[in-house]
Amino acid sequence: MPFNYKKQMPSAEHLKELMPVPENLAKARQKRLDELCDIFSGNDDRLLLIIGPCSADNEDSVADYMQRLCKVQEKVADKIFIVPRIYTNKPRTTGEGYKGMMHQPNPVKAPDAFEGLKAIRRMHLRVVSETGFICADEMLYPDNHSYLDDILGYVAVGARSVENQQHRLVASGVDMPIGMKNGTSGDVGVMFNAIYAAQHGHDFIYQTHEVSTEGNPYAHAILRGSIDEHGRNIPNYHYEDLLRIASQYETKGLLNPAIIIDTNHNNSGKQYQQQPRIASEVMHSMMYEPLLKKMIKGFMVESYIEPGCQKIDEYGVYGKSITDPCLGWNETEKMIYDIAEKL
Ligand code: PEP
Ligand code: MN
Repeated sequence: MPFNYKKQMPSAEHLKELMPVPENLAKARQKRLDELCDIFSGNDDRLLLIIGPCSADNEDSVADYMQRLCKVQEKVADKIFIVPRIYTNKPRTTGEGYKGMMHQPNPVKAPDAFEGLKAIRRMHLRVVSETGFICADEMLYPDNHSYLDDILGYVAVGARSVENQQHRLVASGVDMPIGMKNGTSGDVGVMFNAIYAAQHGHDFIYQTHEVSTEGNPYAHAILRGSIDEHGRNIPNYHYEDLLRIASQYETKGLLNPAIIIDTNHNNSGKQYQQQPRIASEVMHSMMYEPLLKKMIKGFMVESYIEPGCQKIDEYGVYGKSITDPCLGWNETEKMIYDIAEKL
């Protein structure tokens, strides 16, 4: 038998009934979401920082990190708008390795998606209620978006998913800003096509329904670097890359043109310590060229409590990434204050 049907999953409606978003939180979320949309439409010129661990592996350390971030947000609120990353499902290049809390609520125990779904909703709710942030997650599985669509504030479509039709069609109905990454090969055409698709309405099958969407006007670009045919790292955050991509973007007739620079992944070559330097270089380019200043809305940064990463089979250090290496808390705090000072 090709599939072993283990358990019927709870529906999104059922999970939302079990773990509802309180009314005051829903209101606060909408207000913050409106502010975020204003950043994408150019009505608010604060810099956007989408920042947090590569993967959210443990509710307590994630909540601890978010509380630290919340204190920093208060201090820089006039210049920087922070959207924390709470990434609960991870794309894996070969299919092997930790696939996120949704699959494995405990990274060293067997997969348990039934408990995983509950665990990710609980964690997202906890962070929102403790900090007032609206958070980001990756839409790795488009069908699962509805489990969190009343809590999240930002969604990213990853480099391995951005060419996929189902991701693009579902993105057109996602009711919040959605970032389309350039593909792993670096072809920005794939990313622009994904933005185009997401900004237009579609008719398609979603979950058990035929649905129609009107398009997401806040679909935008995330530049994350790429690898070439020899597996070499090719960044795309340097001045010439940005100018070429922004000029191309300008000719496309897309709504709310916006670029986020991912400072890790193939931009840093996972040299995570380089992230502050990369952000600083991009900010210099933005000061030099008005088109870049207009289009680049901010950064996506991988950061956690402890610097670097640990192997999952040696899992034990609190607040240290078990997927991509992250900037540690001290360097993160410094990076945010440095950015604020430059603005
Ligand atoms: C990530 O943001 O952790 C990630 C997996 O990104 P990408 O899709 O760019 O590899
Ligand atoms: Mn990552």
